[in-house]
Amino acid sequence: MKVLLLGGTGEARTLASLLVGAGVEVTTSLAGRVSRPALPVGEVRIGGFGGVLGLRGAVLAGGYDVVVDATHPFAATISSHAAQACAGVVPLLRLQRPGWEGVKATRVGSHAEAARVAAAYRRPFLTVGRQSLYDFRAALADHPAVARVVEPTDVPDGWLLLLSRGPYTLEGELALLHEHEVDVLVSKDSGGDLTRPKLEAAARLGVPVVLVDRPTPPVGVSTVTTPESAASWVLEQRGAREVQR
Ligand code: NAP
Repeated sequence: MKVLLLGGTGEARTLASLLVGAGVEVTTSLAGRVSRPALPVGEVRIGGFGGVLGLRGAVLAGGYDVVVDATHPFAATISSHAAQACAGVVPLLRLQRPGWEGVKATRVGSHAEAARVAAAYRRPFLTVGRQSLYDFRAALADHPAVARVVEPTDVPDGWLLLLSRGPYTLEGELALLHEHEVDVLVSKDSGGDLTRPKLEAAARLGVPVVLVDRPTPPVGVSTVTTPESAASWVLEQRGAREVQR
């Protein structure tokens, strides 16, 4: 049983461990965006496939039996490519952590809309990822915004760039919001526990939150929310194949 695991998330690394532990051959694919990625167990390949046809070609050439798309909820392009590339070729499962529930926030449909809302405040704290910062540049050009990213990037003069990688603690997030006198937190609905403390910190300090909704997922792809469920699905696929043989 050979699995191509589209990764770049903690859930993908957990799934790789579970599958390798169960004797499944796993190749995790990473986009190559960060310079020192946390590496999963099993085989790893790095870099884009070259669109839908490239991904389909890689699936066929690699002799993969199934594909699991465990990429980030906001990595919409690769998820769409996976749905198209696997259709009629191999079974595809989407592993996606649930979004954040019960958060008091202004929910918006895009980063551009989040930028417009944030412009009404003085010192926005942007935790939207490096690639999405571009959408905030014009609207917040005259604001002393604080942006937190994993990899260095250019930001407008007057912004403060913080380089760090989660997980974060509630104490650390409280101190950070306080120290920089943040008056609005802008985030995207990534879900998960590793970066959630900022939401709790904002709630405690009375800092409003703007949350960008997730992109629409491709239709017709089976989806689970935990690495354990994804591992069960793969093992069921393996069992079904063994019965067929
Ligand atoms: P994206 O916009 O959906 O994908 C853009 C292109 O990057 C894809 O068309 C594909 O290139 C390549 N790509 C993306 N994920 C890949 C993977 N796992 N393996 C091989 N190629 C991949 O993705 P993104 O938002 O830039 O995110 C890139 C990666 O970072 C994802 O794997 C995701 O899990 C991880 N990540 C993203 C975020 C986020 O907020 N977006 C946060 C944390 C981690 P080709 O068309 O050439 O195949």
